Amino acid sequence: MSKQILVTGGTGYIGSHTVVELQNSGFDVVIVDDLSNSQIEVLDNIEKITGIRPAFEKFDLSDSVLTDQFFNKYTNIEAIIHFAAFKAVGESVQKPLEYYRNNINSLLNLLTGMKKYGVKHMVFSSSCTVYGQPDKLPVTEATPRKEAESPYGNTKAICEDIMRDFCKTNEDLNCIALRYFNPIGAHESGLIGEFPVGVPNNLVPFITQTAAGLREELSIFGDDYDTPDGTAIRDYINVVDLAKAHVVAINRLIEDKKKSNYEFFNVGTGEGYSVMQLVKAFIEVTGVDLKYKIVGRRGGDIEKIWADTTYGNTELGWKSEKTLEETLASAWKWEKNVRGLN
Ligand code: UDP
Repeated sequence: MSKQILVTGGTGYIGSHTVVELQNSGFDVVIVDDLSNSQIEVLDNIEKITGIRPAFEKFDLSDSVLTDQFFNKYTNIEAIIHFAAFKAVGESVQKPLEYYRNNINSLLNLLTGMKKYGVKHMVFSSSCTVYGQPDKLPVTEATPRKEAESPYGNTKAICEDIMRDFCKTNEDLNCIALRYFNPIGAHESGLIGEFPVGVPNNLVPFITQTAAGLREELSIFGDDYDTPDGTAIRDYINVVDLAKAHVVAINRLIEDKKKSNYEFFNVGTGEGYSVMQLVKAFIEVTGVDLKYKIVGRRGGDIEKIWADTTYGNTELGWKSEKTLEETLASAWKWEKNVRGLN
């Protein structure tokens, strides 16, 4: 029986794209997801894309008994990719205990399972939020972390620290944290993509929903930042490129190419785009007449951040490939599919 990769949160946005790339690379996948922020139908679409239906277990990984039972049943797991987490910044301010309980307990339960059941590797979804507003741009992996702006961001920093400490005393176990910049876009098939519940917080889903007629107009949060056009700058990474970074990280661990048993990498494009540039690119690529207005800044937003990708390119051997235009087109294709538009 071939070894399996456990993908937690595998029916979610980044998780589902990663399952596709893993299966396309020949890995056998089992997904664990409690479906609190995703739909079971995602499995059908993964199967349509890859021809393979991944194994699936529905439960909450912050439950230590259920997580232990899972490892007891699935005895062939070689590595874990851990996506399952709460991720809404604003909500985390309102519900800090829920965020700490869920995001931290899930990691603790998985690490406990790794140790007890001899699962050697973990790739963890971290975030560039751990850098806060950096003093110097672009950010390298040597850029110091800053105190988190939200409980959500703090769970990412705490989880990184937990893995670092865990790896120190468990020399035969390995973790890689991938610090994502802003994941956007969808699979080129239009069959999987981001499916936010309620009003989207993130820029691109808000844009595509506005373009599809679900929202009146886009609010651009602030045009008085210290940037060329006054709107905030981010590094927008294509979700399929990001998914491929996880396959590269898994192979690095399995093939024992790592430099130490706890590593972290930036996963971005190395290019910063302003909100206004992104909006204009979307209009240009899709031909949609998108309504937008400038409003005040959103609390907690930083002014600008983008990645230095040198270390990821050379040491991890991964590079983003897709252009912003291709990525925005894929996001629009997905939104149209979901809404039945043409
Ligand atoms: N943004 C915006 N309008 C929106 C949503 C987001 O102007 O409706 C801006 C936001 O202020 C930030 C950028 O778009 O400068 C990216 O925001 P997002 O929430 O997608 O990601 P974040 O960088 O906050 O994680």
